[in-house]
Amino acid sequence: MRPKVIAGNWKLNKDVGESEKLITELKAALKFPLEKTRVIICPPFTSLALARKLIEGTVIELGAQNMYIEDEGAFTGEISPKMLRSVGCTYVIVGHSERRQFFKETNELVNKKAKKALVSGLLPIICVGETLEEREKNITDQIVSVQVKSCLKDLSSSDMEKVIIAYEPVWAIGTGKNATPQQAQEVHQLIRKLVGQLYSWVVAEKVFIQYGGSVKPDNALELLKQPDIDGALVGGACLKADSFTSIIEAAVRSSQN
Ligand code: PEP
Repeated sequence: MRPKVIAGNWKLNKDVGESEKLITELKAALKFPLEKTRVIICPPFTSLALARKLIEGTVIELGAQNMYIEDEGAFTGEISPKMLRSVGCTYVIVGHSERRQFFKETNELVNKKAKKALVSGLLPIICVGETLEEREKNITDQIVSVQVKSCLKDLSSSDMEKVIIAYEPVWAIGTGKNATPQQAQEVHQLIRKLVGQLYSWVVAEKVFIQYGGSVKPDNALELLKQPDIDGALVGGACLKADSFTSIIEAAVRSSQN
């Protein structure tokens, strides 16, 4: 059985002092055995160095929210995968819908980022998901299939063991409106099938597919109990240690049943 992977995407929240407080509270709250559950935090770039120190010796792993596709050079304002590695990141989120919407990131760029992350020793969390308009037009499957195929282009079967796909319906992100467990399961199953067609069933059985979109303590367990939902990418609810901890507890419980 695949372990559950719970990642907290802090987005543009928490300065250094606030980050220290949140991580300290989270460490204190996570004093239960995290069987079959992995926990990742993705603070803003400015808090990564501090986060690395604070999580040392704990089970918490570190991720970044974005990266550029070059190691160095004249790319003002960008951060390279090499820099992220040097500050202790294991994971990097690529293609979050907010990057696609506000910074015009395309599937092609997301694919380049995923490939660059992998050759740089980072594990990419690749985000896909349809907008409300697309869901209402009944083209969710088409949209998500194109995104998955394009974002995974040229990735090998062994790369796929390092990749996490995050299905995040755009209409559910930060809106308080989560996909129902059935709606999410349907798309997760579709993604797993697609990975099976693109690679093999062995690869599809191993790949992690997280759900993201208004995951909260009161809906986490039902979502995480779905057979193809392997974890959650959490935005708003990861900004408080108690709600993030409750979601992690739900992940632990979902693997026990
Ligand atoms: C996200 O940032 O990826 C996310 C899913 O946000 P929220 O949990 O706030 O909907």
